[in-house]
Amino acid sequence: MSILLQELREEIVFYGRQLLKSGLTMHTGGNLSARDRKTGLVVIKPSSVAYDKLTAEDVTVITLSGQVVDGNYGPSSEWPMHTMIYKHYPRVCGIVHCHSLMATAFSAANLEIPLANHELSVYCSSPVRVAPFEMPGSEELGLSAIKYLGDDNNAVLLGNHGPLGMGASLWHAFDTACAIEQAATIAFYARQLGNFQPVPQAGREKLRACDPLTQPDTGELPVEIKAV
Ligand code: 13P
Ligand code: ZN
Repeated sequence: MSILLQELREEIVFYGRQLLKSGLTMHTGGNLSARDRKTGLVVIKPSSVAYDKLTAEDVTVITLSGQVVDGNYGPSSEWPMHTMIYKHYPRVCGIVHCHSLMATAFSAANLEIPLANHELSVYCSSPVRVAPFEMPGSEELGLSAIKYLGDDNNAVLLGNHGPLGMGASLWHAFDTACAIEQAATIAFYARQLGNFQPVPQAGREKLRACDPLTQPDTGELPVEIKAV
């Protein structure tokens, strides 16, 4: 028997495991969600459940005001931040928040992550900004995340906490989370080697045009492959 929003809930399980496997998070840290375009409902990782134990039935379905519609557990404690982002950015349908080490180190050093690689340049027009520390799970954190995402970036660093990536789909949000960690690591090493240079401006404009969120809204689902 199928369950409500089964495919999207399976995506949460799949990308949750990918977060763990790729080392972008540890234990139960971080969280991810996707918005269903048809119903407007949000599927979100349940709070404090281990990624490798998570099933589609466990994934929580909530409304944009946080009411639980289905699932075996309560939603991630970060549901206020996720729903605030969906309300603020109507075309965003996926969010990945993790505690990946190099990006979190940049946040603790209050250092922006420069556009060191082509991957991050698809999702950001400016270096990834650091939002000042706010309590995890608070509305203040959501407000601050939106303020520092701005209208030019799909990525933000939550101060002394970790990165957040958003995208046209969960695939794009996960791709953004990978790109953030890669850029932070590359910038860290390149600065030690000396003569660090970010991706040149001309290349960045072409790369940024590959993000479905920068393209006109055709109502079509975004193609989940990279254009670069
Ligand atoms: P949850 O398990 O409630 O999603 O919390 C993890 C987290 O990363 C809080 O910021
Ligand atoms: Zn967190």
